[in-house]
Parts: sequence; structure tokens; C-alpha cells
Amino acid sequence: MNIKLAFVSLLFAAPSCDTVPGERDTDISSASINAITITQTDNKESAASSDTIEKDFQETSETTRADFWIAKEPQQGAVINARVPSYTASVTLNGLNLPLSEDGFFLMGFDRDAASNASLVATLNDGSKIQKTLNVAAGKWRLERINAPFRGGRSSAAFRKLRGPEIAQIVGARKIQSDAQGWRQDFIWPVKGRISGRFGSQRIYQGKPGSYHSGLDIAAPNGTPYVAPADGVVTLVSQKPFTLEGNLLMIDHGNGLNSAFLHSSSIAVKKGDRVKQGQIIGRVGATGRATGPHLHWGMKWNRARTDPLLLLPPQ
Ligand SMILES: [Zn+2]
Repeated sequence: MNIKLAFVSLLFAAPSCDTVPGERDTDISSASINAITITQTDNKESAASSDTIEKDFQETSETTRADFWIAKEPQQGAVINARVPSYTASVTLNGLNLPLSEDGFFLMGFDRDAASNASLVATLNDGSKIQKTLNVAAGKWRLERINAPFRGGRSSAAFRKLRGPEIAQIVGARKIQSDAQGWRQDFIWPVKGRISGRFGSQRIYQGKPGSYHSGLDIAAPNGTPYVAPADGVVTLVSQKPFTLEGNLLMIDHGNGLNSAFLHSSSIAVKKGDRVKQGQIIGRVGATGRATGPHLHWGMKWNRARTDPLLLLPPQ
């Protein structure tokens, strides 16, 4: 076995999704995880809270917001909280109308391959508009160049027969828009463990790109419980293991944001359940196409595939 083949074998040995690049143990130092920090920004008004100021004064003295407030710099794969200027009636991102909370907050997501610019437009109550062009920073995805031919088209007729109805269930679940408020929370790790696969990583086979890894893989022993990273409503629990995802659980966090948890050994909730952040929702496993026990956490904001790691604090 030559060195290149040995390296590829090592990648496949990591407990991660079978079809995607894994991680070598030595790749993930705590330093590289800690390098990704989320800017914590205080969402609350810095309104005066002194007892000496009368309530009426507080209510009328709130600063008028002339511009958008955005929690952190937009980048590919990120989901970001933001707030509209005062007196905004509606807001769009690249023409897509976004739901607004009563106090003017909303959520924006940027696909793994989002364009370098995005247009945010607030339409005010008087019909005037405030437009802001956002610069979307490039994601730092791990690309593995493999000196081996692309092995596509492996699917059998039996696989395709099962796959259609599975995809229909996933698409149907993503259409459910609940009133969950998890999108406003600071997300927590569903389970802690070694990162065995990163969102966005991709193998390039002799110049031909394979599909990129659509989630974050966290390795943990079979049966380890995992929790809801934020509040939500359960939109899908597979009745039997799916061909690729195995036992699949999907949760809507509101405002277009949803999570999918793959390969579970068991799922502890049922469709329609409201789950709270920190509540045990399932157990880690290796069902479906997986090389070992791990939790694959995929996340989407509307049509954008986004990176859960960008929502999380250091482990
Ligand atoms: Zn995965």
C-alpha cells in the first residue's frame, strides 16, 4: 500500500459519514476549535434601568434605530441574528421576505456557497426603504485532493426505490414552519466529543469535486444521550432507519432554521413534540451509512445549508 492509499484509509477509519471526508485525530487541536469564537452581542436595549428615571421617560427615550443591527460579520455557512431599523414594516434578504419578531429581530442564513454580497432591504411604515449591502466572507472549508477516480453512480435500483420516499419525508419536514423561538437562543452542543467531520469539507478526486459534507460530525460512544441544542418542534422521526441517515430526527427552531440529527441508535421524542434546549432527544449511534458511532448534525436556514459549529461556543 502506498502512502496516499494509506492516508485515504485512515480518513475512512474515522467515525464519520461514510461518503464524506473525515478527520485525522491530530487535525483537531483544541486550539483550532477555540479559534472559532462567536461574538456575543447583547441583544437587550441598554436602556437606563435606574429607579430614579420614571417609566414614561424610559419608554419615550428609547433610541430610534436608524440602521440594521447585525450580531456578527456575515460569512458563508453562518446563521446570524439581526434587528431592523425602527418603524420597519417588512424586511427582505436577496428578495426573500423574512419573518420579524415583535421587537424587530430576525434571522439570516448564508449558504456554504453563498455569493460574496447580499442585499438587505427594510421597508418602513411610510413606504421608504433602507438598503444595506452585506459583504459575505468566504468560508474556510477543508478540501482534500485525492489521487483516485471519482466513484459516482453507486446506487442500485433497490436503493433508488427506497430513497425517493425518504427524500419526500425530509422535504416535507423542512416545509413545517413552527412558532418555535429557538432561533433566538445561544445554541449549545447536543453532545460533546471529538469532531470527526466538518461541515463543508469536500474531496476532490483527480480534479472532480465530490459532494461536500453537509453537517458537523461529533464522535461519541454508541448510546450516548444527546440534547436539543435549542428549543424547537419535532418535525420528523423516521419510523425505520433511512438508507443514508439511519434513524433520523428533525427539529424546527423557527424563522426558517432547522436541525437534522442522523445515525441515532434511538430517538426519545415524537413528531409534534415541543423540546426545550438541553432536553435529551436521542442517543448516538451508527445507523445508516456511517463508519462508526457519531452524531451528524445538519442545519438549514430556508434553502441555505449552514454550519452548526459557527453557532456554538468552544467545547
Ligand atoms: Zn456527517
